[in-house]
Amino acid sequence: MISEAIKIVLKFLLQNHMYSFDEMKKRQRKGGPIGLVLTDAIAKIFMTWWDRRIKEKAEKEGLEIFLYKRYVDDINIVARMRQNERNTEKNEDEDNRREETNKEVQGMAMFQRIGNSIDESIKLETDSPSRHKDGKMPLLDVKVWIEEKKETNETEEKEDTEEDSENNRERKIMYEHYRKEMASKMTIHARSAIPYNQQKNILTQEVIRIMKNCSQDLPWETKVKHLEDLSLRMQNSGHDKRMRKTVISSGLSAFRKMEENQAKGTTPLHRTRQWKRKERERTKRTKKETWYQKGGYESTIFVPATPNGELRKRMQRKIDKTDIRIKVIEKTGNTMKRALHKTSITGKTECDDDECPVCMTSKKKGMCRKEGVTYEIVCCKCGDKYIGESARCARTRTKEHLNDLKLKRESSVLWRHCREKHDGEIETFKCSVRDVFGQDATLRQITEAVDIRRESASINNKMEWGNSNLPSLVVQ
Ligand SMILES: [Zn+2]
Ligand SMILES: [Zn+2]
Repeated sequence: MISEAIKIVLKFLLQNHMYSFDEMKKRQRKGGPIGLVLTDAIAKIFMTWWDRRIKEKAEKEGLEIFLYKRYVDDINIVARMRQNERNTEKNEDEDNRREETNKEVQGMAMFQRIGNSIDESIKLETDSPSRHKDGKMPLLDVKVWIEEKKETNETEEKEDTEEDSENNRERKIMYEHYRKEMASKMTIHARSAIPYNQQKNILTQEVIRIMKNCSQDLPWETKVKHLEDLSLRMQNSGHDKRMRKTVISSGLSAFRKMEENQAKGTTPLHRTRQWKRKERERTKRTKKETWYQKGGYESTIFVPATPNGELRKRMQRKIDKTDIRIKVIEKTGNTMKRALHKTSITGKTECDDDECPVCMTSKKKGMCRKEGVTYEIVCCKCGDKYIGESARCARTRTKEHLNDLKLKRESSVLWRHCREKHDGEIETFKCSVRDVFGQDATLRQITEAVDIRRESASINNKMEWGNSNLPSLVVQ
């Protein structure tokens, strides 16, 4: 019964998904909407079932699967057709290399055929190393291929029949770092507003990533080729010789440490997601809370990034001379993207809430949904003013005020005003946004306090609770 009920709910939801585009309301006609949480959940469950089916079917039809990994809609497999399957399709005239290729292509075709037969909603496209000129298949940020192990024992080889040797030949999966041909020939620019130390860390991590993306058995020259490419990209981005050298050598020495740890068995070079998960989460959390305490600091202050961290250094020197333990940290500047791009595709700035207290009375549209604001509420009868601040948007907050007034709540400042000034008659009020602060709560709260004082907002003044009293300097 439960599964029947869930079935009905899911069908209803998927058949009636509404969305708006270009100010028109539309109903999703086909498929699960991208971005809907439900689609994601259903797809995950469905694919788990699908994985199981294809593995069973492949096994039955003679495709031996050694490795099967799926990430969303990408499946990576290592497989082999069983001997008898292969023989039926073997072509005697072909030389060894061609035959290998042929087998690989046949094997993938077989996997594709089986995969396509499971459910009509899933159609596969395949790729394999032999389809590429260099015999290596791109896979995210690596290229993979299969190599035969070279260390063969001669006496053994003689005893083997041809078929046996083919089955027992040891093969291994090889991989190396890969970037698309058209990928950017640059990295983080030396003159970007990212602090120098952070640039160094990011680029060092890039060195480690490249090294991790290369099989340990690969010749050193191959790895060097990838590091040289990074070095060139750094040069293109304005990093001088010294920086390039620092980054490459610190990346390499960090990687060597990781190799040592792998050899010692303490930390695997390529850990799974499950590996010491709890422990890693814990250290991550403590790091998050205590990172700045290194060096005996108790608090932090953020300053804009300057070339070579000059501002940070100077401020830190001054602070270190006092007995205040504050660490000066550089923050990253705004990106051009953040300054220029718009997230909304509709370009609609007006609010569609007919009862929005802000939009009903103010000419400035589109401000009512901005978060982190100071706002004002003015009495239409006497012009007295109330100034407030909120981390949420003005529409939500002013609605609360008006609702409190309507219900004549004891805590309502507006009701209090109506009682004191207008004989308990509920008056109308005009709401508007004064300023938008976004995430800067401190500036928002200070602005509120200053504005209340400066404009002698009388509805505020009358109340004995609430706003913080700003300390101020007085010249006498
Ligand atoms: Zn509005
Ligand atoms: Zn009034």
